[in-house]
Amino acid sequence: MSSVRQVVLFGAALFAGAAQSQLPTPAQRELREIYKELVEINTTDSAGSCTDAANALAARLKAAGLPSQDVRVIALPDAPQKGNLVARYRGTGAKKPLMLLGHLDVVEAKREDWERDPFKLVEENGYFYARGASDDKSMVAVFTANLVRYRREGYRPERDLIQVATCDEEIVPSKYSGIVYLLKNHRDLIDAEFALNEGGAALLDKSGKYQRMTIQAGEKVFQTYQLEVTNPGGHSSLPVKDNAITHLAGGLARLGAFDFPFKLSATTRAYFEAMSRIESGQTAADMKAILREPPDAEAIARLAASPINNSTFRTTCVATMLDAGHATNALPQRARATVNCRILPGESVADVQQTLARVLADDKIRITPTHEPTLSPPPPLTPAIVGPVEKLSGEMWPGVPVVPTLLAGATDGRFTINAGIPTYGVSGMFRDPDGSGVHGLNERIRVRTLYEGHEFLYRLVKLYAGGQ
Ligand SMILES: [Zn+2]
Repeated sequence: MSSVRQVVLFGAALFAGAAQSQLPTPAQRELREIYKELVEINTTDSAGSCTDAANALAARLKAAGLPSQDVRVIALPDAPQKGNLVARYRGTGAKKPLMLLGHLDVVEAKREDWERDPFKLVEENGYFYARGASDDKSMVAVFTANLVRYRREGYRPERDLIQVATCDEEIVPSKYSGIVYLLKNHRDLIDAEFALNEGGAALLDKSGKYQRMTIQAGEKVFQTYQLEVTNPGGHSSLPVKDNAITHLAGGLARLGAFDFPFKLSATTRAYFEAMSRIESGQTAADMKAILREPPDAEAIARLAASPINNSTFRTTCVATMLDAGHATNALPQRARATVNCRILPGESVADVQQTLARVLADDKIRITPTHEPTLSPPPPLTPAIVGPVEKLSGEMWPGVPVVPTLLAGATDGRFTINAGIPTYGVSGMFRDPDGSGVHGLNERIRVRTLYEGHEFLYRLVKLYAGGQ
């Protein structure tokens, strides 16, 4: 099937609201085989092997004719199951490479909790079900399938295409993070002008209609702090006001009531501009009102009731764990809390710690960062990046707006961005609004979504990489 006809079919499905998949093309059948094989290799931390998955993809690429020296499976020295795939599809070299990034590992899944075997690809009612069906084996399989397809066509891009499929993206922090290891030890193998990655969660609405296409440009910085109060303690029958738990609890209550300042960046400004056209009524009016100078404080307060809006326009810090005291009949000698912050890119981590200290407002509470932050300044949304996404999206999903987003969560992209490789989350795969069971139970993806992402990325990579 030609790509032109495919567009017409997708368009027809869109306007008819039809959810059933079209008859698969040969390229789609090939994708499905690669996807099935990948999904059925368990890549959980507890029982799986990323190396097996990387080897399976490497075999596909070599069978398609990529030279074996260009297809490497790189395991970590002391973790043989934590393999990563690095495959280079050579172009003319006129431009710097493009990285096609994704992760092989998946979140744990217990058979007894799932309706179906999480490590069998099940197609039912227009969906594929499996752990990793969406996050992130859909995108990884699509990248491999497209390299195979390019090779068959004899496509010669102007830049090398480097598929990087990593292990331990889901484990934070992990000493076996594949992307961290590759950036440190094999930078030459994966160096690229920019990267495409997961994290661009295009959305369907509840009725299955296309709501928005997204391009994710930037991630919040993940920083955890330990708070600690120590105290001489004593017998609980003779309490004193100077109590470790009371100090800590008082500070946490103040933190709970506090909001970090409202702040927009180029990405989030563009996000609210686009969303104000998708939303209606008060929400749309509020989104317009926060874009004005000065932003409308009541509109900010109303929008902040939605956790997504709130996390998009401010840094957040929230208590996530507590641990205090040592006996029911003793005054606590120690009280500890964990506070997890998601810091807007570009905001100073040191400033956030100072703000925390000011808000906790108690000298007895000691604040210690638990790790070094990985900074990730938002990658620029240049016309060279956004243009091709808008063009293709307009062809495949006419009238569906393209919305830039900031990710409140974290992906491997924060490491590549920090290493100077601008990384964008864009897949052309539209998710159900309920999250599609990602990281949870009965993870799924619409069959048509997988095939649309396949076609979208096939063409997007060609637009970025040029050549014939
Ligand atoms: Zn993921």
